[in-house]
Amino acid sequence: MNHAELADHFNKDESRVDWHDKTLWYIREKRDKAAWQTPDWELLRSTASQIKNNVLSNLHEYLLQFERKAQQHGVTVHWASTPEEHNQIVYSIIQKHGVSNIVKSKSMLTEECHLNEYLSRHGIDVVDTDLGERIVQLADEPPSHIVLPCIHWKKEEIGELFHKHLGTPKGNADPQFLTAAAREHLRQRFMTSKVAITGVNFGVAETGEVVVCTNEGNADLGVQLADVHIACMGIEKIIPQRKHLGVFLRLLARSATGQPITTYSSHFRKAREGQEMHIVLVDNGRSERLASDDFRNALKCIRCGACFNTCPVYRRSGGHSYHTAVAGPIGSILAPGLDMKQHGDLPFASTLCGSCTHVCPVKIDIHDQLFKWRQVIVQKGYASVSKKAGMKLMTLVLSNPSVYKIAGATGRWLIKYLPFVVNNRLNSWYKQREMPTAPKQSFNEWYNQNRKQS
Ligand code: SF4
Repeated sequence: MNHAELADHFNKDESRVDWHDKTLWYIREKRDKAAWQTPDWELLRSTASQIKNNVLSNLHEYLLQFERKAQQHGVTVHWASTPEEHNQIVYSIIQKHGVSNIVKSKSMLTEECHLNEYLSRHGIDVVDTDLGERIVQLADEPPSHIVLPCIHWKKEEIGELFHKHLGTPKGNADPQFLTAAAREHLRQRFMTSKVAITGVNFGVAETGEVVVCTNEGNADLGVQLADVHIACMGIEKIIPQRKHLGVFLRLLARSATGQPITTYSSHFRKAREGQEMHIVLVDNGRSERLASDDFRNALKCIRCGACFNTCPVYRRSGGHSYHTAVAGPIGSILAPGLDMKQHGDLPFASTLCGSCTHVCPVKIDIHDQLFKWRQVIVQKGYASVSKKAGMKLMTLVLSNPSVYKIAGATGRWLIKYLPFVVNNRLNSWYKQREMPTAPKQSFNEWYNQNRKQS
């Protein structure tokens, strides 16, 4: 199903749509407050954007420097050009240690590579340790938001889910109680897992360290208790120097949730004694994006989710309607680059209002890229037949004043005398809106009558 069909499904539950919309807007407002309280917020955004420009222009050098430094600290660095390669590398490390249970903290890259499904096909039981991720994992669903994976779930539903899977008392939906139950359930897995996988928020070229930001401390606990740490990192996560973290860490949490900083910003530079550390660097289409002048800026993304929270389409259509690991406005400009046929609908899932660009902490020109993707998709022939036919018809009408006048007059006559021709189930605008009554005359006629003489 495409975005419109999946959004239609989400929209069937109107009260869920309303609180989804309100909750995300509340987070957007918290972000605004945090931004206004931060001196030189705009300067921070510009600086972050310029650092990322530098990274994108020198990515190969920073990656090699990062690899060299990490290797000097005894870390094994792997390179994967596709999700399959990434999954095979991770599996081979796990297999070498003869392990069948592992823990994993939040990593959108592993979602992008469908690592959980791959490992489970090979008999490995993966437990996601981020609370939101664990909730969607128990529900057998993908996350619907990159920062708030289960934002589409009500607390009563989570209570039911925990009752079914963790044996909590039926009807108990107290968030504090449910969090404690999840903590107890996860603790057991932390204590017995020999391999811990983490994502990476930033990889510092200067030092070869990776930085992982969490609010729950689950990445730290997993890594500290495991014999093997595997950090999975997209190649665009590189920053040149440690001092640049000051810019990104101040922007990341404020943009994501309005917090001044994430509760834990953990630096992993080398394995502790007796432990192994691996970093898997993944390309998966990123080099191709880098070569494209129009779309390379999308690689600046620090996955804060601010563009999700502000997007009027995302807030009222839900993350699953984007049918890709990273949803929302940023997902809509990343996914077509990976598979234009499958994701060609996503750049059209936008009002092009520009709110995403306005809040993006690294100043990605998101709405411009959405517009450019639409042009590419139409040129390459991936737009649907109905959309192409509709656009051709609109071009004919809007580029020819006489045709425009005739079309307007016909429309007014039809709405007045044969309304069922317009107001029927085949017209998707009609399904959720009250159609207007026909005006007596067109604006052009009114203008000629009333204003032209004066
Ligand atoms: S595109 Fe910008 S606003 Fe959206 S998730 Fe990435 S960094 Fe955040």
